[in-house]
Amino acid sequence: MRTALQPGKEKVILLSERDGIPAPHGGVLVNRVLSGNALERARNDAKELMSIKVNRDLVSDIENVADGIFSPLEGFMLGHDFEEVLKRGRLANGIPWTIPIVLDVDEQTAKQMKDSHNVAIKDENEKIFALMHVEDVYRYNKREMAKAVYQTEDTKHPGVAKTMEMHDMLVGGRIALIDRTNGSELRKHRLSPARTRDEFRKRGWKSVVGFQTRNIPHLAHEMLQKAALNLFDGMFVNPLIGRKKSGDFKDEVIIKAYETLIEHYYPQESVMFVTLHTEMRYAGPKEAILHAIMRKNFGCSHFIVGRDHAGVGNYYQPFAAQEIFKDYPDIEIKPVFFPAFFYCKICMGTVSEKTCPHDTQHRLELSGTKLRQMVTSGERPSELLMRPEIAELILNWKDPFVT
Ligand SMILES: [Zn+2]
Repeated sequence: MRTALQPGKEKVILLSERDGIPAPHGGVLVNRVLSGNALERARNDAKELMSIKVNRDLVSDIENVADGIFSPLEGFMLGHDFEEVLKRGRLANGIPWTIPIVLDVDEQTAKQMKDSHNVAIKDENEKIFALMHVEDVYRYNKREMAKAVYQTEDTKHPGVAKTMEMHDMLVGGRIALIDRTNGSELRKHRLSPARTRDEFRKRGWKSVVGFQTRNIPHLAHEMLQKAALNLFDGMFVNPLIGRKKSGDFKDEVIIKAYETLIEHYYPQESVMFVTLHTEMRYAGPKEAILHAIMRKNFGCSHFIVGRDHAGVGNYYQPFAAQEIFKDYPDIEIKPVFFPAFFYCKICMGTVSEKTCPHDTQHRLELSGTKLRQMVTSGERPSELLMRPEIAELILNWKDPFVT
C-alpha cells in the first residue's frame, strides 16, 4: 500500500547563481502529484481505504503541497514541526515557517485514521482526490495556536475565530495528489511553481518581484507595481484566491479586474499574472513571511511587503510585517518595502509618503470601507483613484462582495 504514496518523480531544482532565481524553500521543489503506474495503483488502493471529507480550504492546501507551493512541506505538519512553528516560527529542522499547515479532525476520526495508516481524501463533492499516509496524531491548544499565529486571542479576529472552531485533533503525514478538483473558471490562471519557474527562465528574467494582493486594483496599486517594475526584469502579480472575510471582493471580481488592467495597461513581456489558491489568514507579519515563502517557491527573487501587509483591523502595527523579516535573514527571498501610495493634488499624480512632501489634506485615498460604501450606493470612484474600466466592472457586478 505504501508504494501508492510514492509519486513518480521528485523534481529537483537547485539554485543557479547565474539566473538569480532562488532555489525553492528548503532546497528542493516538492512534487507530490501522482502519475503513471503510481497513479493507477493509488486510484485502486483508494477505493479500499477509509476516507475523510475536507473543506475547500484544505483542498487548496493539499494541492499547494502537491505542487510544491508549500515546499518543503510534503503533507500536513507533524507534532514536532507544529510546536516549533508556534514557538520559534521555524520548522523543527530550522527552516523558516510561520503558519501551521494542519489537518484537524474530531477525536473518533483521528483514532480511525491512526489505525488505518493510509487514508483517502475526498473533496466537498465526495470525489477522492488525494491520499494521506498518517504519521502523527496529536492534541493541541487552540488558544495557544491563535496567540502564536495571530498575536491575539480576540475571537473578533477572523483567524482566531476560525482557529477556535477547528476540531480537537491534528493529523500529520505526507499526502499524494490523485486528481485536481473541479476545473472552474477560477482556475484558469492557476500555475504550479515548476511551470512559473520554467516561464521565468524562458523569458530570461533574472530578477522577479512578487506582488501579493487580495483586492481589486486601485490606481495606487497599479502605480506602486509600476514603480517596482522599474527595478526588476519581471513582475509576478499573484492575487490570493480563496476564503476571505465578508466585505472583501469576491475572487471572480478580482481576477476579472486584473485581467482588464493587465491587458490594457501593462507591458506584456515583463508582467505575469498567476493566481494563488489559498485562504487569507489575516495573520499580519506571520502571514507576510508565508506569503514570501510561497513566492520564493514560484521563483521570485524579491517580494513586495506593504504597509499592514495581511493585516485586519488594528491588530498589527503598520510596519510589523516589514520588521519581522529581520528575524529571517536566511529566508532567501528579498523583501522590498514600499510605502503607501495615494493621489496628491499638489503633486498632481499618484505618489507615496516617500516622494510627496505635502500635507495629508491634499491627498485623495480610497479605503476599503469607503469603496464598499460607494459601490453599494452606485457611486463611481474618481478617475484619479480608479481606472474607469475597473470602476465600471465593479459597479455592474451583481454581488461583488463576500457575504
Ligand atoms: Zn504631494
